[in-house]
Amino acid sequence: MNQVITLVTGGAGFIGFHLCRRLLDEGDAVICLDDMSTGTQEHVDRLAVHRNLRFIRHDVTRPINLHVHRIFNLACPASPAAYEADPIKTTLTNVLGTRNMLELARSNGARFVQASTSEVYGDPEVHPQPEGYRGNVSTTGPRSCYDEGKRCAESLVFDYERVHRLNVRVARIFNTYGPGMREDDGRVVSNFVVQALRGRDLTVYGDGSNTRSMCYVDDMVEGLARLMKADSPVAGPINLGNPREISILDLARMVSTMVGSASTIVHLPAVVDDPRVRCPDITRAKAKLDWEPRIALEEGLRRTIGFFAERLVVQSPSAGP
Ligand code: NAD
Ligand code: UDP
Repeated sequence: MNQVITLVTGGAGFIGFHLCRRLLDEGDAVICLDDMSTGTQEHVDRLAVHRNLRFIRHDVTRPINLHVHRIFNLACPASPAAYEADPIKTTLTNVLGTRNMLELARSNGARFVQASTSEVYGDPEVHPQPEGYRGNVSTTGPRSCYDEGKRCAESLVFDYERVHRLNVRVARIFNTYGPGMREDDGRVVSNFVVQALRGRDLTVYGDGSNTRSMCYVDDMVEGLARLMKADSPVAGPINLGNPREISILDLARMVSTMVGSASTIVHLPAVVDDPRVRCPDITRAKAKLDWEPRIALEEGLRRTIGFFAERLVVQSPSAGP
């Protein structure tokens, strides 16, 4: 067979970068397509050393014609700070962007993996969340652009499957962290690690009793790769995430202890519509993909702290802005 050409939209972002690297290592020709809104030039440069990488700067809300065999559609800002900064664009990226990438898949007969999210469950009343749970999502709040955008994207994907017989898969990705996050990304792990390394206050929004379940990025990439490769039909969405749940306050304490930081934990106002709990039921992923996370939170945090420690000029609490 000729070389597989795999398109990764959002390939200059956090998960996309790790996914592109993995695919290049496996011998695919990879097209990394990104508008660089939250992606980094450093990621593109690191990927571009590989001769099988082609980078295209492009916004998925505009159509594009390419020759591809497989598409991973990851293009979308994932940090609440980033997706709330331009909420209308966030909705359009999810709806128009996903439509455009589905049309591209259709014209190529390409297999399609959609990066969906645990946010489709909103502030869940069922815990942990299985795929059959339909969610508790606001259509009017500041997170709606992302949550409802991703829900609409899922419905487009399954309509292309029904109407056009497209070969589709949907990953509902739960909180993922690791090396390669931007230090100004705004999500909880990068915030806490950077704050602790700089000796600054760790900012817990609200009382910190809200929970998340943190998946290390290599585990996530393994799950996404298996989802694309699975030859038996994977009907419906599939949760990918680490089922170990932790409160945000405990996460702050853990990061602070691991860094050996002199930081204190401060409480800032709670975030509007912040889901109170989140934990994936990964029964389906285990059964269909023979997948479950391997990297414990302690080990993943150790690697993430190492990544940021190398990059940051460690400052005393009084230094800097
Ligand atoms: P990220 O913000 O680091 O990466 C997103 C990438 O998409 C960036 O490189 C950005 O420039 C690009 N992008 C955004 N809008 C675009 C557009 N209109 N056209 C082309 N490119 C565009 O986020 P991430 O953490 O790597 O997330 C990747 C995907 O996984 C997203 O779809 C996100 O919704 C999903 N996801 C991530 C998490 C997580 O915890 N990391 C959780 C759930 C879902
Ligand atoms: N959070 C926090 N301090 C921070 C960043 C985030 O307390 O500096 C909390 C946030 O309110 C949420 C959780 O950590 O309850 C996860 O937030 P994140 O933005 O990483 O992702 P989300 O799961 O909300 O999309």
